[in-house]
Amino acid sequence: MSPGPGPGPDPSPVTDPATGAGTTDPAVVAARAEAVRRRIAAAGGDPDRVRLLAVTKGFGPEVVAAALAAGLVDLGESYAQELVAKAPVLAGGPVTPRWHLIGRLQRNKVRSLATLVHRWDSVDRLELGREIARRAPGAAVLVQVNITGEAQKGGCEPAEVDRLVADLQAEGLAVEGLMAVGRAGDDVATRRGFAALVAAADRLGLPERSIGMSGDLEAAVAAGSTMVRIGRDLFGERPPR
Ligand SMILES: *Cc1c(COP(=O)(O)O)cnc(C)c1O
Repeated sequence: MSPGPGPGPDPSPVTDPATGAGTTDPAVVAARAEAVRRRIAAAGGDPDRVRLLAVTKGFGPEVVAAALAAGLVDLGESYAQELVAKAPVLAGGPVTPRWHLIGRLQRNKVRSLATLVHRWDSVDRLELGREIARRAPGAAVLVQVNITGEAQKGGCEPAEVDRLVADLQAEGLAVEGLMAVGRAGDDVATRRGFAALVAAADRLGLPERSIGMSGDLEAAVAAGSTMVRIGRDLFGERPPR
């Protein structure tokens, strides 16, 4: 990562000049966010109603600072350790980030995250929800559903959703909606899964439907997404972990 800008213009606002990935220039991030909003509109979504979650995993605090300066306040992180390291660096700035945990989460990581996380967007089992309710009573959550049947993916089985939502509500958690990840490279399965997720949210009366990433934004918006989670199309390719 390049050192922060000194006095005068930063001579190297882009972490990787070859790809433009990891820009620290808020104007670049803002322009990319505008392009994402245009895609949302072109896919039939109202850009004021389909919100943008900026997925900052893999990038350092200076990239996150650029996102905040560009007006992106809802931020997504997949890994507990990474969020624990990043959040304090961004705290106390002019804009307070709203961190969303969007990755697979072990129960023993909940405690370290409890004061940092704005919403737990990938809750997929009751034991995890119980620990969240214990460490952050009344916290806002989304239930992640595995809509594509891929074993390596997080998410509860579609047949378990109603039960899990009810159990999490009984724990005192505020279940705001459902979240899912499409199947990479399979537009048909992805669209079918998104439609099923939206139908389940309708049935359960849950307003938030967090679906759509850089590669399947259009399908998600067409299905009724209320929040797309965008990483690469805002910040470029992530550095390898
Ligand atoms: C990494 C990630 C994203 C962002 O994916 P991009 O392809 O970079 O837009 C969205 N949602 C989840 C759950 C992720 O892990």
